Amino acid sequence: MRILLLGKNGQVGWELQRALAPLGEVRTLDRNNGGDLTDLSGIQQKISEYRPNVVVNAAAYTAVDKAESEPELADLVNHQGVAAIAIACKSIGALLVHYSTDYVFSGEGSKPWSEIDSLQPVNEYGRSKLKGEQAIAASGCQYLIFRTSWVYATKGNNFAKTMLKLAVSRSELDIINDQFGAPTGAELIADVTAQVIPATMNNSEKLGTYHLVASGETTWLDYAKHIFGVAKKKGCKLQVETVNGIPTSQYPTPAKRPLNSRLNCLKLERSFGLSMPDWRLGVDRMLNEILEK
Ligand code: NDP
Repeated sequence: MRILLLGKNGQVGWELQRALAPLGEVRTLDRNNGGDLTDLSGIQQKISEYRPNVVVNAAAYTAVDKAESEPELADLVNHQGVAAIAIACKSIGALLVHYSTDYVFSGEGSKPWSEIDSLQPVNEYGRSKLKGEQAIAASGCQYLIFRTSWVYATKGNNFAKTMLKLAVSRSELDIINDQFGAPTGAELIADVTAQVIPATMNNSEKLGTYHLVASGETTWLDYAKHIFGVAKKKGCKLQVETVNGIPTSQYPTPAKRPLNSRLNCLKLERSFGLSMPDWRLGVDRMLNEILEK
């Protein structure tokens, strides 16, 4: 199997380099070597030259707040760039694997979103990602879209690293307590992707959109408390004594954030015989790696 991986240096892209390797010959592109999603004809040319069986697109414009002031760029990458990839995949009969977000939903209510719920993004990033999804479906290519949320990875910056830095220098922290979701490791997303691709190659009925997050749910506040608990158990000297929960309304950001980021993964679990692990499993592994450095 020939696989073309786009966005190899992102959180998910990095883990995909490892997870996709056993499936066949993996060629990788990033924006500096012909994989720039703003170069619509360039990316199509790369796909038609390499003629992969599968294109895995982990590249995206992910600066949620910045997207409010540069919606054209978010649209160019997350919508038009993705549309160009999908059209190229259709023309060579390649499977397109793509990632999207719970931000395609309104964030209302407390029920985990399922794949058939109505779509109503509340910010520019969410709108650009939804248009990308719609362009994939409209292209007629064979596709898998995995919607995920609250992604972290050991590589690069993440919420846990930020919290740990703050906790060694401050005695009191205010953390949002009314957004709900499941922290999901890039590792888990990559591993599930690598399991699902072969299962869909011979079974087109399994193509489509799936929700992919770790199981369970938490808030940023309880996530932070969990991180501090693990760090303390491992002997870290934290200054933080008081951790206050605050509502999202007390932490204004340029982009509106959905309060309900819960995603229902039953379709994924039933279709592929998978069982999503509890969010703490991956977070604890990541913390072990960070805290051992
Ligand atoms: P990252 O921001 O870690 O990685 C995104 C990658 O896309 C980076 O390597 C970046 O390159 C690349 N990129 C950005 N613009 C372009 C461009 N114009 N052309 C080519 N490459 C570009 O994202 P994640 O790995 O976290 O996200 C993977 C997927 O999951 C995305 O589709 C995202 O929308 C989705 N997702 C992510 C969530 C999260 O919490 N992070 C939540 C829900 C969904 P460079 O490093 O050069 O900037």
